[in-house]
Amino acid sequence: MSELQEKILAVLNDGGFHSGEALGSALGVSRTAVWKQLQKLATMGLPLESIKGTGYRLAQGFELLAAVDIRAHLSAASPRHIDVFHSLESTNTFAREQAAKRDYAGSVVFAERQTAGRGRRGKEWLSPFGASIYMSVLWDFEQGVQALQGLSLGVGVAVRRALLELGLADVSLKWPNDIYVKGKKLGGILLEMVGDPEGHCSVVIGIGINVSMPIAIGQNIDQPWTDLDSELLSAVSRNKLAARLIDEIFTLLADFETVGFSAYRDEWESADAFSGLQCAIITPRETVSGVLSGVDNNGAVRLRLADGSIQRFIGGELSLRQV
Ligand code: ATP
Repeated sequence: MSELQEKILAVLNDGGFHSGEALGSALGVSRTAVWKQLQKLATMGLPLESIKGTGYRLAQGFELLAAVDIRAHLSAASPRHIDVFHSLESTNTFAREQAAKRDYAGSVVFAERQTAGRGRRGKEWLSPFGASIYMSVLWDFEQGVQALQGLSLGVGVAVRRALLELGLADVSLKWPNDIYVKGKKLGGILLEMVGDPEGHCSVVIGIGINVSMPIAIGQNIDQPWTDLDSELLSAVSRNKLAARLIDEIFTLLADFETVGFSAYRDEWESADAFSGLQCAIITPRETVSGVLSGVDNNGAVRLRLADGSIQRFIGGELSLRQV
């Protein structure tokens, strides 16, 4: 994001109307230059309103993320750093880079927009400006990956708790890491490991939750999706949502190494979007069909096959689909 765009955002963030001319003279550029940048910001997803003769303002109720506002809403967690950027390649990539450079464990990073937001296996995560929460937490663990089985499902439980607290009535989870509302995808979780799988390692926990996804941009999502604006009766403050997510995720992480996924398993199963339904697990080698029958204490998904036997699946190269 250019310096001029950053400056325009800083002025608009007061919520009031600003004419192109006033913006131009405050920032030392022409009205046309301001207009061009406003067009670019709108294409990125920034919700702008313009009234002829009056000027431009941010859509009513829209607030930019701010570390100080997020901290003011926290009740349980106290992250070491909360970093907020207007644009990042991806919050997971930023958190990984910090892990290599400095002591960033216990910190959270947010971006208003990701230019290369990722899902699993290189899939794209659409990340327009101001439309969602894009965040990553970096957390240190001492006992290696073995103690972390099921962590990604545990994070799903934590995210669901945060959304229920904000008044969303019906939040379900799709194995291994998607957040669903009434059969539509609201968000996703992406865990990445940094360090020694046998001992001290860090995990980057990335979360994307749609809040007000512009329809035109959402049309590029190739599966049913939804956002909080469509599911909640009143608009949600993204700073408050960010704080609830941090509170719940930090609470989970604080004792996950001790209690493991088994402490969250019942809650996960009670929210399972596809429980009891005929599904297929697609692996790089084969497709196995059966009835989805919950998860085990390691976070593996259980499929009841036609002969009555149970087959478990775990790992990153799998996809679950209802058939
Ligand atoms: P699986 O990995 O289990 O096969 P998946 O296909 O949903 O599930 P993910 O890596 O979880 O894959 O998420 C990436 C997919 O999510 C994209 O391919 C796209 O279909 C969808 N998607 C991308 N951006 C968004 C978004 N902002 N909101 C909802 N869905 C999105």
